[in-house]
Amino acid sequence: MQERLKELQEEAIQKIEQSASLKELNDIRVAYLGKKGPITEVLRGMGKLSAEERPVMGALANEVREAIAVKIEAKQKGLEEAAVLEKLATERIDVTLPGRPVKVGNHHPLTRIIEEIEDLFIGMGYQVAEGPEVEQDYYNFEALNLPKGHPARDMQDSFYITEEILLRTHTSPVQARTMEKHEGKGPIKIICPGKVYRRDNDDATHSHQFMQIEGLVVGENIRMSDLKGTLEVFAKKMFGDDREIRLRPSFFPFTEPSVEMDISCKICGGKGCSVCKQTGWIEILGAGMVHPNVLEMAGYDSKKYTGFAFGMGPERIAMLKYGVDDIRHFYTNDVRFLKQFSVEE
Ligand SMILES: [Zn+2]
Repeated sequence: MQERLKELQEEAIQKIEQSASLKELNDIRVAYLGKKGPITEVLRGMGKLSAEERPVMGALANEVREAIAVKIEAKQKGLEEAAVLEKLATERIDVTLPGRPVKVGNHHPLTRIIEEIEDLFIGMGYQVAEGPEVEQDYYNFEALNLPKGHPARDMQDSFYITEEILLRTHTSPVQARTMEKHEGKGPIKIICPGKVYRRDNDDATHSHQFMQIEGLVVGENIRMSDLKGTLEVFAKKMFGDDREIRLRPSFFPFTEPSVEMDISCKICGGKGCSVCKQTGWIEILGAGMVHPNVLEMAGYDSKKYTGFAFGMGPERIAMLKYGVDDIRHFYTNDVRFLKQFSVEE
């Protein structure tokens, strides 16, 4: 009986060592340690033994059971670890593979133009000022020397909310608001970018919504030559040092005298071509000395204070700078168009 038990132990341990899976191991456990297993069977035969032999055999049988159980447990641990390692090996992520590039957007061309202009003027001591797009008739027209019924209002037909409230037709009301805030005291140096609205039919050069950027300087002894010098710095910075500027007399209700500024045509160098309509010059912006009435309406003593103002369309600047032939490209948001202004490419 003793020998039979030892044989069973050796047999079981050999099988355990050879087992290759948890299932196989479990089958061995059931076969040797189960109720129908050979060890149980041996123990059943103990009734035939003498009283002295019985406890000795009982102890041995338990030893054998214990030895097999310990071996199974050890093997099970080993198999489980191997399974984990295998899983790790098959599911490993290759961190050396290149990642999917993140798509980065870019600034809208008009934003780039406006920021470029802002940076230039901030460098000259200007501050950026903003105002509401839904504006009072007073700030949009009256405070700018355009009383009700003034014929020049026809040039700026807009979208009215009520008789007294409209979508602003220019960024100039920001000038009126800023002057009012300063309560008749100088100096003021501001640049005002923003969206404006006019009742225009959209075509290649007109849009019912567009951008403007304006500048205003108010102080003592501000002269026309200051305006000219400022615009010259602006033109050369935006379009190149080789460009010339010229000022032509013009009319705006809120400036006196008023001028329009042209820059020399880059394509023909001033000789005349189709881009400059054979004139050698390209119109860029309107400007002038702030009208005394505008200063007085905002509470300034026009004998003590003078100022200049200028205004331009970022779309026009962008069209000239980047060679864009239709203003509507800026608003239809075609990615193929916008992508061309990506800094990365
Ligand atoms: Zn030309």
